Amino acid sequence: MSRRFFVDSPITGETAALMGQEAQHVSKVMRAKVGEELILFDGSGAEFAARIEKIGRSEVEVSIIERCEVDRELPFRLAIGVALPKGDRQRWLVEKLVELGVTEVVPLVTARSVAQPNGNALDRLRRTVVEASKQSGRNRLMVIGQASTFEAFLTGASDSDMRLIAHPSSANESAADRLAPNNNNVVVAIGPEGGFTDEEIAQAEEHHWHKVSLGPRVLRTETAAIAIASAIIFV
Ligand code: SAH
Repeated sequence: MSRRFFVDSPITGETAALMGQEAQHVSKVMRAKVGEELILFDGSGAEFAARIEKIGRSEVEVSIIERCEVDRELPFRLAIGVALPKGDRQRWLVEKLVELGVTEVVPLVTARSVAQPNGNALDRLRRTVVEASKQSGRNRLMVIGQASTFEAFLTGASDSDMRLIAHPSSANESAADRLAPNNNNVVVAIGPEGGFTDEEIAQAEEHHWHKVSLGPRVLRTETAAIAIASAIIFV
């Protein structure tokens, strides 16, 4: 079981406190004892060796032994705008994108997308990000952005190095052909189950986005997002 725990405020001093679900995980699930050591991260990029000092009902107090900068991030920024699928497939997608090192996920509102997550659902997705970061060793949290209209997402990416829009009928334009190893800010758009409309594809091309194919089969939204992220991180 993972001994990594998330502290939801910057760790700066010699002590820190685990709250809420993290405290419960230490005391109830791990049944840890005072004096045991844990690894903490606060999303700042560092991780911390810590010792349990006190176990309360809803709070676990620790002393910080050592701070280490441990970088498990991608060497470039990768943002994915995706018309999120529903329910479990949405959580699964977010978990996998954390594991793959994606920097930011923006829920896209497109012509054919189903309802986008509201405040509570976004909070649950952010909890999924924390869980996946504990497991995968990331010390920075993948950002779950506010839902964005397709048009705002297109125009907001104008300063990126590479803008890719995944579309099934994009002939032979593969993502790998489009990517250069020195891209340091890549932005990708993935459509809903109903796909992007012709107008949306035309709009993207006007804003200098490149259509890319993920092969001759039609992938589900979450598979397409994971496939393109995997292709990009290994270029
Ligand atoms: N019937 C829809 C399929 C949508 S699949 C259509 O024809 O467009 C959901 C999203 O996943 C698509 O909008 C696209 O962004 C991505 N996707 C799925 N399969 C793909 C493929 N083979 N190549 C590129 N993108 C794909």
